[in-house]
Amino acid sequence: MTPTKAVVLDEWGGELTTDRLDVPDPGPGEALVDVRACGVTRTIENAIQGGLSDDPAFTPRVPGHEFAGVVEDVGPGVETVDPGDRVVCYFYLTCGSCDNCRRGDTARCTDFGGWLGVQRDGAYAERTVVPAANLLPLPDGATFEMGAVAADGLATPLHVCERAAVDDTDTVLVVGAAGRVGIHLSQLAALRGARVLAADVDADRLAHVDSVTPDAVMPIDARGDDVAERLRATTDGDGPSVVVDTVGDTDTLAAAWDVLAMGGQIVSLTTHHDRAFAPPMKEFVVKEASFLGSRYATKDQVVRAARLLADGRVDPVVTERVGLDEVPTLHERIRSGEHHGMAILEP
Ligand SMILES: [Zn+2]
Repeated sequence: MTPTKAVVLDEWGGELTTDRLDVPDPGPGEALVDVRACGVTRTIENAIQGGLSDDPAFTPRVPGHEFAGVVEDVGPGVETVDPGDRVVCYFYLTCGSCDNCRRGDTARCTDFGGWLGVQRDGAYAERTVVPAANLLPLPDGATFEMGAVAADGLATPLHVCERAAVDDTDTVLVVGAAGRVGIHLSQLAALRGARVLAADVDADRLAHVDSVTPDAVMPIDARGDDVAERLRATTDGDGPSVVVDTVGDTDTLAAAWDVLAMGGQIVSLTTHHDRAFAPPMKEFVVKEASFLGSRYATKDQVVRAARLLADGRVDPVVTERVGLDEVPTLHERIRSGEHHGMAILEP
């Protein structure tokens, strides 16, 4: 047992409190990690609200999955990491032995075990025990904070760009550009040579996007009935060739579908179970359009995302740093929409 301070959720949708608890010794296939940086994000807020699972058997729970740290101890049979290793963590609990896992397509695991911070304790803590298979090498030159950004905030955009094969022929419309996925995706698509239209709904958020992204990224106000016309005008009538939706607003999606370029692709990242978007089948054919879902990232993409940050090719956009005691109030601000950008917990 190792004593640790942690943020604990009493029930799904319930209260977060800080507490002292004992982390068990790592069992077979597990490792004890000293958490150095963990993202505090809307994805984790969704998990806290029961958006990934609301099974009461999984609470009380320590949330948090977007983290990097140092291995302190390993359990029996662990050969992939050693004490002292700097690591970045993979979010999904995958089987490691299905066909998709074997070929490295880990986000498509067919014997999926759930999510770190939901089915088992996560990283809103000084220390946590996780499956050693989830721990990936943090590249030299990548800070722990970069690891926390790479773990989801940049790995997810990297998966999107590779799903849609974004390159210098593309105009990419990012819907929800000021969020942590949107802001890193905007940078990454520009790095791959694309022209980027970064859409969001608030002047402060758009100013923030403008201040932290390269010149190839053009902020676009997504409010108002004339969004489609403005998008068309901005793209000389052709429309964006790739639309990435991080929000799930069906009106914005409908506007994007209207102006989508010939051969265009819409990539959806949202998991609203109560919203649908179903254009007439004919329109898919006429434009030879594609609608793609994009599911997290592969382990390889998490490591490559960390390298992009370590090399300075993408800037980690971190707006706030907090300690464990500040995490419950930060989640209240995320819930009420007062917080934007990406906050990092340094336990
Ligand atoms: Zn698998």
